Amino acid sequence: MKISVKRLAILGSTGSIGQSTLSIVEQFPERYEVAALAAGRNLNVALEQTLRWKPKVVSMANEELAGQMTQLLRHAGVSGIEVLHGTEGTVACSTLPEADFVVSAIVGVAGLEATHAAILAGKPIGLANKECMVAAGEILTQAARERNVPILPIDSEHNAVHQCMRVGEHREVKQIWLTASGGPFRQTPLADFEHITPAQALKHPTWVMGRRITIDSATMLNKGLEVIEACRLFNVPPAQVRVTVHPQSTVHSLVEYVDGSILAQISVTDMRLPILYALAYPERPASNLTFDMSALKHLDFEQPDLERFPCLRLSFEAAEKGGAHCIALNAADEIAVEAFLAGKIPFMGIPRTIEKVLASTPEAHPETIAGVLAADGEARERAKEVISGQSSVVSYQ
Ligand code: MG
Repeated sequence: MKISVKRLAILGSTGSIGQSTLSIVEQFPERYEVAALAAGRNLNVALEQTLRWKPKVVSMANEELAGQMTQLLRHAGVSGIEVLHGTEGTVACSTLPEADFVVSAIVGVAGLEATHAAILAGKPIGLANKECMVAAGEILTQAARERNVPILPIDSEHNAVHQCMRVGEHREVKQIWLTASGGPFRQTPLADFEHITPAQALKHPTWVMGRRITIDSATMLNKGLEVIEACRLFNVPPAQVRVTVHPQSTVHSLVEYVDGSILAQISVTDMRLPILYALAYPERPASNLTFDMSALKHLDFEQPDLERFPCLRLSFEAAEKGGAHCIALNAADEIAVEAFLAGKIPFMGIPRTIEKVLASTPEAHPETIAGVLAADGEARERAKEVISGQSSVVSYQ
């Protein structure tokens, strides 16, 4: 069978998902090419990627960086690569006529407009940006359904659910079980949570990831965002999504069917596998990402503790309300995580900030991306006000 080459637009190319995507491209040169790279502020890595992959377009965070990139490409003797910047540049990457598939891996709502534009342009999406689904999932999934555009989850849990869902009908699904590693503080006594430092929270036991998602894993807010993401991607209510703590991160998630069967997906903890699955769907190319069954001794599962992880409770509450509450949950968390990493608020200040912001969030359901971004901006402002009200120098002893 002849394999047709897929030309990729990678949004967030210098981040960990972007880099893993490029390593898949490297392993499967007969299947994938790079059409566009939307990088951010990491000029060195962006330059290296641009020289290596020769995309048609590369986009940087701002005009200054784009100017530097243009200079550096000229010095390297490379011509014919268009250098763009900002949201417009990212949208140009995601809607590039030469791109067949868009990997959406920009962290935060920064990737939202480009992801929406890609769906409107009919491009299949490999989605690693969960904030997009949390903030604008209703809009994105509706646009995708209307145009018959597949959204393939790269988030490992949703990728596992997607695989398990291929086995049965949607109406036969009883509930989705998302697994959570529990993060580094699964066994930390509640009394110690106030004194958790950024350095401690940045150490994740099983996955190596970006800074915000690592903190979100430590608070379990990440799992809360994933609950909302699952509701949107798989069109189920929050009551049909459950979380189970599974410290080994070997089972990536499970789907329980009405007849009592539960299907689980097991694989190595390596993001390249969900990326490959999304890129190749519905095919399954042979890979070297093998799981060593002989090393598998036991699997533990336990209920999440909502007292130590109030972010998970807040997420389920936001999921029930939907719309502006989901937007505010994500926005307030992003601001609170920054403040925590900067030493302005303690670890438990993250859920406290989110709770206060949610309490002042109106029940609303923005119907446009502009409306989503406005609600996001308002929630960020309120989060900053809450933080400046509780801020003092945090001491970790
Ligand atoms: Mg995940």
